[in-house]
Amino acid sequence: MLLPKFSIGVGDRFARQGAAQLQALIRAKAAGALVAPVWNKSHREHTIVGTMPEDVRAEADAATRLLGWTDPYFVDADHIGLGQVERFAPASDFFTIDVADQIGCPAPDPDVAAFVDKHANLLGTLEIPGVAAPIHIDRETIEHAARGFLAACHEADKVYRKIVECKANDDFVAEVSMDETAQPQTPVELLLILAALADLGVPAQTIAPRFTGRFNKGVDYVGDVAQFTREFRDDLAVIAFAVEQFGLPQNLKLSVHSGSDKFSIYGPIRDAIRQFDAGIHLKTAGTTWLEEITGLAAAGGDGLALAKQIYRAAFARRDALCAPYASVIDIDPGKLPEPDDVDRWNETAFVSALRHDPACPAYNPHVRQLLHVGYKVAAELGDRYLDALDKHAETVGQNVAENIFARHLRPLFLD
Ligand SMILES: [Zn+2]
Repeated sequence: MLLPKFSIGVGDRFARQGAAQLQALIRAKAAGALVAPVWNKSHREHTIVGTMPEDVRAEADAATRLLGWTDPYFVDADHIGLGQVERFAPASDFFTIDVADQIGCPAPDPDVAAFVDKHANLLGTLEIPGVAAPIHIDRETIEHAARGFLAACHEADKVYRKIVECKANDDFVAEVSMDETAQPQTPVELLLILAALADLGVPAQTIAPRFTGRFNKGVDYVGDVAQFTREFRDDLAVIAFAVEQFGLPQNLKLSVHSGSDKFSIYGPIRDAIRQFDAGIHLKTAGTTWLEEITGLAAAGGDGLALAKQIYRAAFARRDALCAPYASVIDIDPGKLPEPDDVDRWNETAFVSALRHDPACPAYNPHVRQLLHVGYKVAAELGDRYLDALDKHAETVGQNVAENIFARHLRPLFLD
C-alpha cells in the first residue's frame, strides 16, 4: 500500500466532520492538487473522547462513500507503541509508530560498533545534492547518532513486526515518529536514523522528525523561519539521498506533525517541496475541533451559548487541561478574557477571537490554545455536544471545510 506524494492528516476528535473535511480535498483536487486524506486519531484522543479505532474507519469509509471519493484514503493509528498495536491493527492501514521515548536509551556496545562499521562509507565529506553546505561525518558523529537513536530504531522495528503479525500482511503504510521529544534532530542525524531503519528493514514511507522551533497546538509556528527553511530543505535532500543509498521506499517523505495553522512556514515548505519535487505529509492537530467551536459560535443562539459554556469550563480547569500539553502550548493567562466578559460577546466577537486570522486585531491566540486543549470539556458534555454539532452541521461544516481548504491546502499546494 503506497501513500501518495501529498497527504494530509485530518484528525477529527468527535468523528462528525469527515465529509466536511473531504469537501476541502475535493475542492483542492478540482483546483489541481490531489491530496490523500488520512484520518488519524491517537490512543489518548480515543480514551478522552470514548471512541475506538473502528469508529474512525467507519467515519472514513462513510465520508468517502457519501462524496464518491475514489482516490486513496487512510486510517491512521496515530502515535502508537507496542502496547496499542493489537487494538488498532484491524481498523487501520497507516501506523504512526512513535519511538520518541526510546531516544537516548542505551544501545548495546556491539550494536553501536557494528553500525559504525557498516556505515564507514559515509565517513568524510559527503556531497549530498541539494544540501546547503557539505556534510562532514567522522566516526564520532556516527557513534553519537547510534547512541542517540539506535534503540529507538530497534523499537520501531519491533512495533513494525508486531503490526505485520497482527494484520498477517505488510500491506500498510508505516510512519516512524520522533517528534515528541525535547531536542530537534539535525539533517545529519536524520540521515543516520534512516540508515538504521533501512538496516533493520523497516519500510518507512514517512518520517516525522522534531523540527527546530515550536509547533504549538492550533497557532502559528514560533521560531526562526530562516533556520527552519534551511533545515527542512536539507532534510528533503537527505531523504532523497537516503532512498537511493539505503534502498528505502521511493515515496519516503517528511511528515510534519502539529502541522496545522503553521502559516508562516507554509510558503517555505511549498517552495521547497516544489523545488525538490518532494512529497509531504502534513498532520493537522485539533484545527477541526476548533472549527467546530467556531461554527457553533457563528450559529449564534444555543450554539454560541454552548461555545461560551465550554470556554468557561476550560477557563476554570486551565491548569489541569494544559498540563499534558505543557510543551506544545504557550498561554499567557493574563491575556485570557474572564468568562463573564466572554458571556457578553456576540457571535462576531467570539468568532473573531477564536478564528485563526492573524490580520484580525480581535484574534486571541491564548483563547484559541485554551480551547484547543479544552476538547475534554466537550467530550464530557457527551450527547449535548454531539446534538449541537448535528443541529448546526451546516455552519460547522462550512467552517471546517473552509479552514482545511483556504488556510491549509491552498497555501501549501495551490498558491
Ligand atoms: Zn506527533
